[in-house]
Amino acid sequence: MTHAHADHVSAGSRAYLTARPGEGLLRARLGPEAAIETLAYGEALNLDGVRVSLHPAGHILGSAQVRLEAGGEVWVVSGDYKLEPDPTCAPFEAVTCHTFVTEATFGLPIYRWPPEAEVTTGIETWWTANQQAGKASILFAHSLGKAQRVLARIGSGCGPIYTHGAVEKFCRLYREAGIALAHTTPVDGAPAGTDWSGALIVAPPSSNGTPWMRRFGEFSTGFVSGWMRIRGARRRRSLDRGFVLSDHADWPGLMFAIAATGASHVWVTHGYRTPVADWLKREGLDAQAVETRFEGELDEE
Ligand SMILES: [Zn+2]
Ligand SMILES: [Zn+2]
Repeated sequence: MTHAHADHVSAGSRAYLTARPGEGLLRARLGPEAAIETLAYGEALNLDGVRVSLHPAGHILGSAQVRLEAGGEVWVVSGDYKLEPDPTCAPFEAVTCHTFVTEATFGLPIYRWPPEAEVTTGIETWWTANQQAGKASILFAHSLGKAQRVLARIGSGCGPIYTHGAVEKFCRLYREAGIALAHTTPVDGAPAGTDWSGALIVAPPSSNGTPWMRRFGEFSTGFVSGWMRIRGARRRRSLDRGFVLSDHADWPGLMFAIAATGASHVWVTHGYRTPVADWLKREGLDAQAVETRFEGELDEE
């Protein structure tokens, strides 16, 4: 398993292999009965003559690229990855290989990420402005990975931070793995009559527009996602603010990572497969788009 996002985990296997820091997350997905084995990053295992090792992908806690070596040939399957520093997981490591299987979630040249510090400041400025207007700030972020990355960066000195149950569940697992996050209180555990004005509430995007939001009184909404790079994406969801922060590589990141592997064969999957494969072909690489079993990127929806 490259990582514990739902679209990358299939239940029902006899055995699982994952990077050690991601064990708790995978366990939460698969249940107590699943046979999960772990490897430290860089540690190798021999599986029927194939040398298997896992290397940091920088995507979420425990995310790994899978390196396979047999008969003098090396393949690396990236899973999802990003190159930006993230305090909640080990940084991406370029692994030299002959064939690289890359993701392409944001595989169009329009996707270029602003510096993370700029985004964090933007969130804090928005939160402070809402406080001054007596409004709650509801921030939508993917409950696994993105929410924790924001909570690792944001200063809890600005005011109280509350979480939706789906977000808190993963915060607990991150803390158990030793990742420091801002102090959070579950919304469901807040006493009746809680004053939400001035609070930051971190919730999964699926809670937008649901009755769950009624309790907060007057509020402003924001969404943290790579898709917020496109103006229309925010308007379509009727959000007040969009913050461009992704757990996936942007276009320059994809191109840098692919080149850094030194691979001459590249398989492109998960997202904008064809545009990326066509671009790489023009660059002289042997590239092809490969279909995935699960179509569409759910991670950031
Ligand atoms: Zn993912
Ligand atoms: Zn994914």
